[in-house]
Amino acid sequence: MTGQFEAMIGLEVHVELKTRTKMFCSCSAAFGGEPNTRICPVCTGQPGALPAVNREAVLFGLVLSRELSGRIRPVSRFDRKNYFYPDNPKSYQITQHYRPLMENGWLDLPGKRIRIHELHLEEDAGKLYHTEDGRTLVDLNRAGVPLAEIVTEPDFSTADEVTAFLERLRDVAVYSGVSDGRMQEGSLRVDVNLSLRDLRTGEPGVRTEMKNLNSFTEIRHAIAHETLRQEELILSGQPVLQETRRWDEALGQSFVMRGKEEAADYRYFPEPDLYPLVVTDTLLREAEALRKEQRPEKEARFMKDFGLSAYTAGVLTEDPGTAALFERTQALTGDPKGAANVIGTEILRLLKETGTLPGESFLTPEKLSTILKMNKEGSITGAVMKELLALTYREDVDPSEYAREKGLLTVSDESLVGEWADQVIRENPGPVREYLGGKEKVLMFLLGQVMKLSKGRVKPDDAKAAIITKLKEIS
Ligand code: ADP
Ligand code: MG
Ligand code: ZN
Repeated sequence: MTGQFEAMIGLEVHVELKTRTKMFCSCSAAFGGEPNTRICPVCTGQPGALPAVNREAVLFGLVLSRELSGRIRPVSRFDRKNYFYPDNPKSYQITQHYRPLMENGWLDLPGKRIRIHELHLEEDAGKLYHTEDGRTLVDLNRAGVPLAEIVTEPDFSTADEVTAFLERLRDVAVYSGVSDGRMQEGSLRVDVNLSLRDLRTGEPGVRTEMKNLNSFTEIRHAIAHETLRQEELILSGQPVLQETRRWDEALGQSFVMRGKEEAADYRYFPEPDLYPLVVTDTLLREAEALRKEQRPEKEARFMKDFGLSAYTAGVLTEDPGTAALFERTQALTGDPKGAANVIGTEILRLLKETGTLPGESFLTPEKLSTILKMNKEGSITGAVMKELLALTYREDVDPSEYAREKGLLTVSDESLVGEWADQVIRENPGPVREYLGGKEKVLMFLLGQVMKLSKGRVKPDDAKAAIITKLKEIS
């Protein structure tokens, strides 16, 4: 940027709610499924089928609203947003246009408050698949899945602020247990509205809306790209058109989808098939009871109670499943630092490798604490511990039984370790000569061979002592 303009950015964020059933019918809202198996007359828009509001979705909406500090409307309402598209079988979407569930919230970033205009409930559309032979197929399993749409004021001026906000918002949704918050799976979707304000004249610019942003990286690219595009237009005297643009990840640029539609284009009107949504005290109390400890609170508590560094507390609270695994494990072992250490390294590596969350693996706090205790008592080495962790993560095994049956327990029998050292010396005459000739570094290689022979069951110190003794004997 030339410094003449400042970006004004506002977000529209769709949070897919993990309710058991859809927003207005009792079809399963779970992700996936054979195409068109989770559908019924309501979510496919059959004439005469009547919607009914999902209470759990309202509760989840209230839980989020509360974390965002907004005013909850005692009576909100659903409206029809009319448009035709093949993934929208009713030719309207039920949303909350005139009276959203929550208004005037905020979320604080370090040094900046982002105002939230509103949170409203609505339903998702179906999904279109474009096949290689040029056909388009529609899957309505997603049609009618509950969404909370969160609309911010245009309070952001940089991509850093936008991603910081989205990370906070994702944490809120995930920690509250109302959403998976996964951008790749589409359970967190973000549209970016951006305009450039002329800093010399104070003149506000025309905004565009950008869609199809599937990761934080793409959001950053799209913001940088759109800022440049608008700046070039303004500086060359061309108008910025108010339009909706589609970000193309592969090409790294955006394309016009449609001219910006005005509210009037959607002919919004109150949904005649639904009563107004009355937020009773009972509902508010239930939402209150669903409140969960949020990530910043948990981080602070981990630092205070377990003496963890801010960095480690941050790593362990990446997601609630990891945090729970840590907390329960340390309660069983009585050694928070040990649990933090292994979870922050080995377990996180397994998590990335397998693309799962700790809660989805076979590694329970009980099994993890057994493995940690075995290592601490010296009955398994660090190397065997890593092997056991990886196995217990992926398969349903009992770690102590497995270690015993497979002969993984630490060997401290000196004569056996000595035999392995002898064998290594016999089989590696070259390196042994080098070592005896003064090349001390070769010791590490020989040591490694002993470890390998023992399948990691010797403590490195014991292996080292044995090999040095044997080498002395022959020198
Ligand atoms: P509309 O109803 O016309 O879509 P909204 O007021 O609902 O407009 O705003 C939609 C989004 O656009 C919000 O996220 C808001 O923050 C953002 N927005 C509004 N004005 C601007 C602007 N001048 N520059 C950038 N974003 C804006
Ligand atoms: Mg809008
Ligand atoms: Zn249905």
